[in-house]
Amino acid sequence: MKHRVLMQIGLALTVLLGPAGSTEAADKVKAVASFSILGDMISQVGGDRVEVVTLVGPDGDAHVFSPTPADAKTLAGADVFFVNGLGFEGWLQRLEKASGFKGRLVTASDGVKPLTMEEEGHHHGEEDHADHADHAKGHNDDEDDDEDEEEEVPDPHAWQDLTNGKIYVANIRDGLIAADPAGKAVYEANAAKYLDAIAKEEVAVRAALATLPEARRKIITSHDAFNYFGSAYGLEIIAPEGVSTESEASAQDVAMIIRQIKADKIPAVFVENIADRRLLDQIARETGAKIGGTLYSDALSGADGPAPTYLDMFRHNVGALTAALSS
Ligand code: ZN
Repeated sequence: MKHRVLMQIGLALTVLLGPAGSTEAADKVKAVASFSILGDMISQVGGDRVEVVTLVGPDGDAHVFSPTPADAKTLAGADVFFVNGLGFEGWLQRLEKASGFKGRLVTASDGVKPLTMEEEGHHHGEEDHADHADHAKGHNDDEDDDEDEEEEVPDPHAWQDLTNGKIYVANIRDGLIAADPAGKAVYEANAAKYLDAIAKEEVAVRAALATLPEARRKIITSHDAFNYFGSAYGLEIIAPEGVSTESEASAQDVAMIIRQIKADKIPAVFVENIADRRLLDQIARETGAKIGGTLYSDALSGADGPAPTYLDMFRHNVGALTAALSS
């Protein structure tokens, strides 16, 4: 406590006595983002007033992230912590507890209408529930409502619909204003500009995907990260792994997808930047579907890659999709 007071006096003295600009770094709002896509959004809205640290960085997989003591220390020193929510950060409570974080927690997906998924890796649009209905019987459920074998869980990948991205940005803006009221005008102006850019990108995405022939609007990815994208922009996305990369595809799931690719003449399979591509390579080999490229699902690329920002990610993904699916 005393140390903190002394530091504040020190800062105040520096403000009074120091040369203009020298206190800026110390005065910045310290924001922690759970993953890289949020990190970019916060930087866009926060601008120079905010220092952003991202826990799960470029090409990282937040589903299977395991926070380190260093991450807990980072969070302990933060003013505001931005997370996706919808069950994406399964490690969130453990990290919060370990860090003793006392700042403001902002859930970027608040207000999003979530899509739901069945547990145990069932993919969206699957109709043969009977094949899997026996899976849950081996469980020793201790809660009555767990008896339902088709338990629905929220799909966390809401950022893959730009309309939801706008909700994220509004929540980030409001979270930063709450953490740093003096920056209100800056955050509002930055957010307005960014929201405008997202709206423009939305028009571009729809226009580009509208050119795809109806029969070619089906793709395979490795995990179920693109249901919001598919539902917003009219593509059917099928994935052998579930909504989390933690669940592995079963042999039946893979066999079913191989049958489906052949029956529906699905033109392309896509690897993801966060996932092992071997399963997709195998599926492509066995079906003759081509590898349509890499889609950025749960993480951005590094600064030198093709998807260093949220909007770059959409431009890259839409480019890869239209290149592979145009007739
Ligand atoms: Zn995911």
